[in-house]
Amino acid sequence: MGGPLLSVVVPCFNEAGGLSELRARLVAACEAAVGDDFEVILVDDGSSDGTREILTQFQSEDRRFACVFLSRNYGHQIALTAGLNFVRGQRVLVIDADLQDPPELLEKMMAQMDAGFDVVYGRRRTRKGETRFKRVSAKLFYRLLDSIVDIKIARDTGDFRLMSRRVVTALGQMPEQHRFIRGMVSWVGFRQVPIDYDRDQRFAGDSKYPLGRMIQFAVDAVTGFSILPLRIATWLGFGLAGVSICLMVYVGASWLSGGTVAGWTSLMAAVLLIGSVQLIVIGILGEYVGRLYMQSKTRPLYFVDKVLRTEDAVDFEPAQRQALNIGQNQITGSPSK
Ligand code: UDP
Ligand code: MG
Repeated sequence: MGGPLLSVVVPCFNEAGGLSELRARLVAACEAAVGDDFEVILVDDGSSDGTREILTQFQSEDRRFACVFLSRNYGHQIALTAGLNFVRGQRVLVIDADLQDPPELLEKMMAQMDAGFDVVYGRRRTRKGETRFKRVSAKLFYRLLDSIVDIKIARDTGDFRLMSRRVVTALGQMPEQHRFIRGMVSWVGFRQVPIDYDRDQRFAGDSKYPLGRMIQFAVDAVTGFSILPLRIATWLGFGLAGVSICLMVYVGASWLSGGTVAGWTSLMAAVLLIGSVQLIVIGILGEYVGRLYMQSKTRPLYFVDKVLRTEDAVDFEPAQRQALNIGQNQITGSPSK
């Protein structure tokens, strides 16, 4: 198949402050694990803080680095997907650019792969330097997710993991727009094993996941792997219908006994309750219908602005170019060293 033994994918969005440290630690970890036989795919997700320039410089200084510049900010999961579409290695490590996940764990992960696993995923024992709110909400979220989705998604994991080539190929065959990659990897199956670690603080900069994005991510996770919310809507409907029937009997009896004045409070309560339940149910439906709509447009997941790779690595077939959404003139090779 050619290609290196190990590919590393790093999504970067405004990470200028920590990139040098990342390069130093990542290269050291890779060299310790596989010698020279690796490539690093740096995906720039539409940064505006000089990240692009730094990545370009890395690539010109080290032929093992490749850069993929996306046409705008698409979000973490899509940036990751873009990176995964470019890897050529037999094993693929996914790691954040902020050094919250220690690259030094690579050797241990490789050992697990040698033992026959297809996926070695990092599981957070502790999370440092994150707000109490983030820790508590993440914990609650993973427990909630666990109880509603149809597949087993390991708790307290992120996208920090080492995967075999066939798992990455399988991911490439899943065309969903709303991607919850850690769930998708789980869904793919094969032999998977956790590796526990302590999550560090961000080396530089702030989290790129504000509350709004976190909520969207959580809804993507749930809707991507379960239709339970739709069923809950049905149950709610049946439950309320049951209550209504009982109330109807009571209303009829009151009418017969002639005591049917007053009742404003109960009437308002019923109207408000039923009204809000209906809106919630329509909202749940809307989440699914909206996703169906977006998916039905079958738009490409992303567009690539530019790829920087050493000359000997610029070897895309026309079909591959199409799959990767790169035009003929968008790949810039720099001379191999
Ligand atoms: N990231 C990205 N695009 C985005 C947001 C984040 O590529 O729109 C990258 C970011 O540079 C980092 C990784 O995704 O390498 C994880 O983001 P972050 O550390 O902000 O998330 P957190 O660890 O706070 O959940
Ligand atoms: Mg982070």
